[in-house]
Amino acid sequence: MAQREWVEKDFYKELGVSSDASEQDIKKAYRKLARDLHPDTNPDPAASERFKTVSEAHSVLSDPAKRKEYDETRRLFANGGFGRGRFAGGGGGFGGFGGDGAEFNLNDLFDAAGQTGGANIGDLFGGLFGRGAQQPRPTRPRRGNDLETETELSFLEATKGVAMPLRLTSPAPCTNCHGSGARPGTSPKVCPNCNGSGVVSRNQGAFGFSEPCTECRGSGSIIEHPCDECKGTGVTTRTRTINVRIPPGVENGQRIRLAGQGEAGLRGAPSGDLYVTVHVRPDRVFGRDGDDLTVTVPVSFHELALGTTLSVPTLEGKVGVRVPKGTSDGRILRVRGRGVPKRSGGHGDLLVTVKVAVPPSLEGEAAEALETYAKAERASGFDPRAGWAGA
Ligand SMILES: [Zn+2]
Ligand SMILES: [Zn+2]
Repeated sequence: MAQREWVEKDFYKELGVSSDASEQDIKKAYRKLARDLHPDTNPDPAASERFKTVSEAHSVLSDPAKRKEYDETRRLFANGGFGRGRFAGGGGGFGGFGGDGAEFNLNDLFDAAGQTGGANIGDLFGGLFGRGAQQPRPTRPRRGNDLETETELSFLEATKGVAMPLRLTSPAPCTNCHGSGARPGTSPKVCPNCNGSGVVSRNQGAFGFSEPCTECRGSGSIIEHPCDECKGTGVTTRTRTINVRIPPGVENGQRIRLAGQGEAGLRGAPSGDLYVTVHVRPDRVFGRDGDDLTVTVPVSFHELALGTTLSVPTLEGKVGVRVPKGTSDGRILRVRGRGVPKRSGGHGDLLVTVKVAVPPSLEGEAAEALETYAKAERASGFDPRAGWAGA
């Protein structure tokens, strides 16, 4: 992103957080906004625009390195020779520039530079700052920003893995100029003001300052004939659908990195990465404990007392689980290797909990039989509360 945009945009304000907000606060604020504004849930075009802005703010503020760079760029422009809106004339080498207290608008400066090729302003600054103070550096393409998105999966999709289309609204390389920013048939040239370094230095008293080059907006190159589609940025916003492979075994809240699926790089630089936070809908039957698949099976008292074999669903078909006679209610039976696929290969286990279901009402033969059984049980000497609560 161009320095100019960083100077103009208040990402903190976009996310509604203070400039000293913690990473957690930023994440929280973004997630709330993203939920409200995502084009999948909010069809309002204004919301979609806001979503782009908020995503952009988040992509910068969530990355500590980028956030630092952003903060520094803004501080530089706020405190440096380029007072925001006012050109500081007092101390240094700028005496007389802009007249007595005349407002010098940074935007005018940039706009003029962008639209006219900046010849006059370039000469002016070149004269003030001195040319060639910096070693020439090659132009700096900028790697694309990482993107964040969220998706909701069913329990089975999350455990077994799924290939799914994911709709993304993000900047992408301009198809007209193939991301160069220059009108087709032309190409960007090295900025003569900074010799391609993107920064200029000036001396003020005993101190030397480096500032982003205003002529090329810190990019080091100048596009004399900007592409009509993208206005020279090399990037246009588009909604695209990418096919994403969610690996098996992802958990609720997990963030998956998809390399190279993020925002397009500026001027041919590599793309950023896409991070997908997965929300898993709970399942009616299955639960998870790490790589183990959990399931609770309702059983009759007699099935536990006499023993049986239960037919239990798994991720892949059913499995017969033997319940030994005399199994107590709530016991967990483990079936090895029938759980959730592990990232390291293989599967976790299936954990089957047996839970007695009591008939809500018993009548007739069944009730009589149970009465008979109750007598027989007492006669056998079985006391369910033997040794319980000090008895
Ligand atoms: Zn273009
Ligand atoms: Zn420059």
